[in-house]
Amino acid sequence: MKHITLSAKRLLGGLLGLTLLTLSTFVQAEKIAVHAGWLFDSETGRLMEKRTIHIDGGKVESVERGFHQREGERVIDLSAYSVLPGLMDMHTHLSYEFGPRTYTEAFTWNPADYTLRSVNTAERTLKAGFTTVRDLGDSGNVTVSLRNAINRGDIIGPRVYTAGKSIATTGGHADPTNGHNHRLMGSPGPAEGVVNGVASAREAVRQRYKDGADLIKITATGGVLSVAKSGQNPQFMQDELEAVVQTAKDYGFTVAVHAHGKEGMERAIRAGVDSIEHGTYMDDETMKLMVKNGTWYVPTLLAGDWVTQKAAIEGFFPEMVRTKAAKIGPLIQDTFSRAHKKGVKIAYGTDTGVSRHGDNAKEFALMVEGGMSPADAIRSATWNAAQLLQAEDELGSIAPGKWADMIAVVGNPLEDITTLERVQFVMKGGEVYKQPE
Ligand SMILES: [Zn+2]
Repeated sequence: MKHITLSAKRLLGGLLGLTLLTLSTFVQAEKIAVHAGWLFDSETGRLMEKRTIHIDGGKVESVERGFHQREGERVIDLSAYSVLPGLMDMHTHLSYEFGPRTYTEAFTWNPADYTLRSVNTAERTLKAGFTTVRDLGDSGNVTVSLRNAINRGDIIGPRVYTAGKSIATTGGHADPTNGHNHRLMGSPGPAEGVVNGVASAREAVRQRYKDGADLIKITATGGVLSVAKSGQNPQFMQDELEAVVQTAKDYGFTVAVHAHGKEGMERAIRAGVDSIEHGTYMDDETMKLMVKNGTWYVPTLLAGDWVTQKAAIEGFFPEMVRTKAAKIGPLIQDTFSRAHKKGVKIAYGTDTGVSRHGDNAKEFALMVEGGMSPADAIRSATWNAAQLLQAEDELGSIAPGKWADMIAVVGNPLEDITTLERVQFVMKGGEVYKQPE
């Protein structure tokens, strides 16, 4: 080094400095100590005072009492906040956002339009504190590409587990050409997510595997927002449901089931599906069957509430939809209260994309109103959701070895659950996406 000229030294120093700076930034980003004023333990449902969360390489290394800083750690001071695991919404549609124009989008929008919208909705979701979501139905597989772009770091969004296109039967909820005229109706098949019979049910599941989906979504009964008369008739036969579940197992897929009516719901539960979404008309018998089979219930109270409110607005929905929408909200909330009392396992899900993306946390207040404790409501969106995803080794609590996914709010969420509607800080995999201003 002695023989190096001054200018060369400067250049080298500059380069080294730059390298060191880059390296130290990198190291700083890697090792973090989060000082949490209060920390929600999603395993027990308790709020603990003054904890340090040590993070290394995007994962939680340890959680300790009191505030500490180890050498090489950057401190994130959240000593005035309540810190919770990143929230998880088990029922979203990132490529949709419902409005009166939704029914014409099918004729005017291209996959790129849905994709660009989902870039925006994904960012809003993450910034609202939801670090993981399931997407339960898109069009054109845009959420598969969305997930991949988020994972590459090209855009900002939650961890996405997507079902790709929902699987329906002809004329069923999620048949993509429902309500079209005959010239446009065509005859969609397994590739478009429409099946009839065992062979095409298997084919549709395998097509989702080929498309890059993470799980399977089927529509076992009628739905509220489709342009079809019944919102609750069974739409899959027992053998078709069994074909879906058995084929899904071969590919390591869980199966999420849209269901309102009792008969279609019970067929699906007997076939061994993993979760019932909405579940409006389930009765004591259905709940017993769910408890026995360990089937999860994802209530989507927010969607029920939202569509019932919008049904009061003249012209918001087509008339066929409006009559179904008008009565759904109170029904779902009552079902939720009964299912919770009966000990049905509940995971948080909103059906956001019906209501506005970024409002996902509004479900909490509806759950608490329905008789669930705030601690259990938060557990449904963390601990329980991770189990439903079969990702409990990586997600659902702030614990050693899991992803450093966490949020912070002002105040005590166990006293005021609506604090979760005002998330101040969001971290996903050790990266900060939102912080207090
Ligand atoms: Zn849905």
